[in-house]
Amino acid sequence: MSDLLARHRAVLPSWLSLYYDAPIEIVSGKGVRVTDADGTTYLDFFAGILTNMLGYDVAEVREAVERQLASGVVHTSTLYLLRGQVELAEKIARLSGIPDAKVFFTNSGTEANETALLLATCARGSDQVLAMRNSYHGRSYGTVAVTGNRSWKNSALSPLNVHYLHGTDRDAPAFARLSDEEYVAACVADLRDVLATATAPDVACLIAEPVQGVGGFTMPPPGLFAAYKEVLDEHGILFVSDEVQTGWGRTGAAFWGIAEHGVTPDAMTFAKGLGNGFAIGGVVARGDLMDTLTANGVSTFGGNPIATAAANATLDYVLDHDLQANAARLGALVLEGLRPLADLPAVGAVRGKGLMFAIEMVEPGTGRPAPELAAAVLEATRRRGLLIGKGGLRGNVLRVAPPLTVGEGDAREARDILVDAVTEVDTAAR
Ligand code: PLP
Repeated sequence: MSDLLARHRAVLPSWLSLYYDAPIEIVSGKGVRVTDADGTTYLDFFAGILTNMLGYDVAEVREAVERQLASGVVHTSTLYLLRGQVELAEKIARLSGIPDAKVFFTNSGTEANETALLLATCARGSDQVLAMRNSYHGRSYGTVAVTGNRSWKNSALSPLNVHYLHGTDRDAPAFARLSDEEYVAACVADLRDVLATATAPDVACLIAEPVQGVGGFTMPPPGLFAAYKEVLDEHGILFVSDEVQTGWGRTGAAFWGIAEHGVTPDAMTFAKGLGNGFAIGGVVARGDLMDTLTANGVSTFGGNPIATAAANATLDYVLDHDLQANAARLGALVLEGLRPLADLPAVGAVRGKGLMFAIEMVEPGTGRPAPELAAAVLEATRRRGLLIGKGGLRGNVLRVAPPLTVGEGDAREARDILVDAVTEVDTAAR
């Protein structure tokens, strides 16, 4: 065990997730590549954890932060007018498509979702919330409550009264072999049944990820959330889209994951990639919903000048370079190369949307989820100089999400490494 790993284990929580048998210390990065303390360079196709949306050492972001630092003010507080915060809020409100939108900034996705849940429950005067099975929304009391994934829940204690819906857990036995239309109809019937039988009338909101991140990049058919929204509207139930992983054009099809479903939510939450590594998150919501809260509110560091300088530069870069189009183009190229893997006995499914790809590893023969094979692929890709992610309710899904700036050469190289690594693990598993 390395000295740093031993020190990490001694003073950091045992449950703090680390990747790889021998965890890596990344010390530098440039473009889509990072270098570890031993001098080994990797293609980072998990973008940190979708945090480094533009990749590493991006001049525009670095210079924006350096300009702010040079002013002598890292941060005072949000008690004063902050120009960068207002400018960023204006951009996000405009891009959201939500009428008369207002934005509240936080430091993480967890806090963003807490805020959205507070808004919805206060606006509706109800502690009842609908959430999705297999979801992940954060690690605080309220966000764990709406997380429907056992491996990320320590406790069922909850400040909220939560009812879980089907939707993205498509391999649930009840939904196997349904067509997209039948599947959407079955999910909607399930929602109607939950509202008719399991809840009191005053449900506050549904919170959902358009593509579940930690849940293994599950991808419900287009139309699911539009069908859900119709039912929610009948009951005045608010809709919160958790865009922490799907925002800013990553899915290629739209700027927000939910927009592909033709749905304008009442609120969206975001974090991860916006600051390209600097901590920033937030909620964008209908103005009347945002202004429901009447007690004083502040986030001491939410939307601070350093984070908003980074975020403004990152967002401008995404728009100026049309990275959504890059996600669509290179996403299709990578997916086309990965699809044949689905024929291997150890691969249960391959799917992708823009620059989000998932490969499900299963036991050859039985088709049962095989987390140990996913772990083996993770090690095999690392040996070949590629970093990717892992997830899924059963820990058997490989997740791939490179920076949105990735170029064609790097996309092809990573795709070939993935094909090689999965094939090697499949052959050994037979
Ligand atoms: N929501 C989603 C969809 C996420 O994937 C995450 C983190 O992975 C969160 C919320 C929580 O964000 P954070 O880790 O910044 O608190």
